[in-house]
Amino acid sequence: MRKPIIAGNWKMNKTAAECRELIEALAPQVKGAQCDVVVCVPYTDIALAAELCKGTNIAVGAQNIAWADNGAFTGEVSAAMLKEAGATYVVIGHSERRQYFGETDASVNARLTQALKTGFNPILCVGEMLDEREGGKTEQVCRTQVVGAFKNISAADAQKVVIAYEPVWAIGTGKTATDEQANETIGYIRSVVKELYGAAVADGMRIQYGGSMNAKNVAGLMAQPEIDGGLIGGASLKPDDFAIIVNTAK
Ligand code: PEP
Repeated sequence: MRKPIIAGNWKMNKTAAECRELIEALAPQVKGAQCDVVVCVPYTDIALAAELCKGTNIAVGAQNIAWADNGAFTGEVSAAMLKEAGATYVVIGHSERRQYFGETDASVNARLTQALKTGFNPILCVGEMLDEREGGKTEQVCRTQVVGAFKNISAADAQKVVIAYEPVWAIGTGKTATDEQANETIGYIRSVVKELYGAAVADGMRIQYGGSMNAKNVAGLMAQPEIDGGLIGGASLKPDDFAIIVNTAK
């Protein structure tokens, strides 16, 4: 049995004051959750979010991590800094990072390696663009991204990773993948993990769906056997909606 995991990706939203408001509204609504609950917040909110989440069942995550321990990497934030601030999860390879900030399978692999080396719970994002889906390349794209991300990563480390399957055409568009599309592609991703690491790792790995998941479509998606939770953007900014998603994931 895989315990579902619902993670909010706030992206570049919420000042410290807004972070406080959101977490104070969210925490009481999700305290009976039967899934793991995570909020992946902007760097500047991590310490405050960690403080506010103390004594709750909400974990705090970052939205990226540097591959190096320290040094001349302007704009990057290291594992030690994230850990000290209170993050325990980290999103790696989000499509917005790949699309707008030049992340490649190699940089995603380097960041994932560092996250595992430093004891984080990584959420690795993979997913195809619209033209790739329409061109019948969904499986090929997901395979390349998964194989690239896990390069030289041991099975013992791989099993600590959560994968988020996020079709890029569904992110922030209100156009969710159908339950069947999401289930089918996640099943395929699990088969790639099986090829890489064997059945035990593949069967134990939690693979989320992400892409316009919301309070209305969560039940259908979560009823699919391959879907182990969600990575939620827009709907994670509304505490009442995010709480419904969390409380639907059992
Ligand atoms: C995301 O940011 O990972 C995401 C899935 O966003 P949204 O839920 O807004 O589509």
